[in-house]
Amino acid sequence: MVKRKKVIFSPAIAADRAYLGVHNDPVVSAEVERLLSHRTRDIRLNDELNRLFRERIWPQTAKIIRAWMIWVAILGVLTLALNMLLLPLDILKSIILPSAVLPPIALALALVWRRPRAPWLQGSLLIAGVFGILLSIALVGLNAGGEFYERHLNIMLFVAITAIIIFGIPLAWTVTIAALALSLYYVFQLTNPSLELGSALASTLFFTAGVFATVAARRNMTLLAQKSFLLELRDRHRVFELGEVNDRLESLARTDPLTGVANRRWMEEMLVRLWDKEKKSPGQVAMLMCDIDEFKKLNDHLGHAEGDRCLVQVANIIEKHVRRNLDVVARYGGEEFLVILPQLSEAEALLVAERVRESVEAASMPNPTSSVSRYVTLSIGIAVQGAGSENLSSEQLQQHADAALYRAKQSGRNRVVIHRPQTSSLDDLAEENAV
Ligand code: GH3
Ligand code: MG
Ligand code: MG
Repeated sequence: MVKRKKVIFSPAIAADRAYLGVHNDPVVSAEVERLLSHRTRDIRLNDELNRLFRERIWPQTAKIIRAWMIWVAILGVLTLALNMLLLPLDILKSIILPSAVLPPIALALALVWRRPRAPWLQGSLLIAGVFGILLSIALVGLNAGGEFYERHLNIMLFVAITAIIIFGIPLAWTVTIAALALSLYYVFQLTNPSLELGSALASTLFFTAGVFATVAARRNMTLLAQKSFLLELRDRHRVFELGEVNDRLESLARTDPLTGVANRRWMEEMLVRLWDKEKKSPGQVAMLMCDIDEFKKLNDHLGHAEGDRCLVQVANIIEKHVRRNLDVVARYGGEEFLVILPQLSEAEALLVAERVRESVEAASMPNPTSSVSRYVTLSIGIAVQGAGSENLSSEQLQQHADAALYRAKQSGRNRVVIHRPQTSSLDDLAEENAV
């Protein structure tokens, strides 16, 4: 059985992979699929998903909370200014303290929500701060007395309800804020000297129902936000999977399935890219055209499977002698390999080719009926485009390498021949590193 190896990956997909991070975690994806298969109202995020959800919505939640705090602070200042104009001095004195604490609390909370902190800290500060704001409003009503009493309790509940409805915070925090707002309302309303107990109870019941409805609405909004978060995770996971499949397909389309080296198509793409680069800053490029000697005889005598094994081994040997990230080894035809060696001089290309040739011979793969040797041998034609020489097209350079290979075959095989364009004599044309 012939071993398949190495896959060519595209760097764009690799970058995507890093971006997708957790979305390719199979455990998370399985949980996302499970939750999405249930009804929206049954969605219950586990700890990990809940953490991810909170992270995802944090910027928006924080922005809303900060805006609300600033709105409350401005409203507090405006109300205080209005009261100063309208209220008699003795009443004003009694409400000045609770009125004055509201804007600083709201602004402090706006500061707390400028960046993420430990959830318990952020939650406790938010709940304590909202409680402080609600209490200050209720105390203003209590101290002002008369018609201000009930009006301020209503304002307090209105403020609490806006917070409940727009703060995308965990349900436990929402319920705590709702409970604190209602408790304040009960205590202050039931002790309202200007209200009958019956009407105090009636308004309490009415507002309790209202607050409950608001909490339920907030919970539904959170569930919908969680569902769209789950859908987003699923989408990303699918995009990731699609990317993986594309990656594999692309790799298959570029790789020779037998040897794992680049196929001809990939090699031609590389040549186009290289020559585009060369146009901008011409440099040296060497090409080795390698051809197994009398390979047909190996196939005929040892079988096709043995021939395949030989091809894999020769491809491995060639790859071992080239630079991993710079050079390209491609299976050019049946038993021919083309090696592209950018930035390599003639002497260096000769050295690489000679090492490859020697290693193939040293591997002692049998080719019993070959006229060259009992073992598999390789002939290599080299063509080099020098830094200062005329600009050849990649096809021309290939033709030169081919011509050199032809010389190598003609002059006995198992040798390296370099193409020298400036000389015309056949002997000079081929510099043979004969064995
Ligand atoms: P030369 O020294 O002149 O190169 O002779 P050669 O026998 O190597 O060249 P020739 O072109 O006559 O034969 C190449 C052989 O390679 C013929 C074909 O059956 C064989 N071949 C091509 N592709 C494959 C392959 O994928 N696996 C195997 N086992 N053989 C292949
Ligand atoms: Mg051939
Ligand atoms: Mg051959």
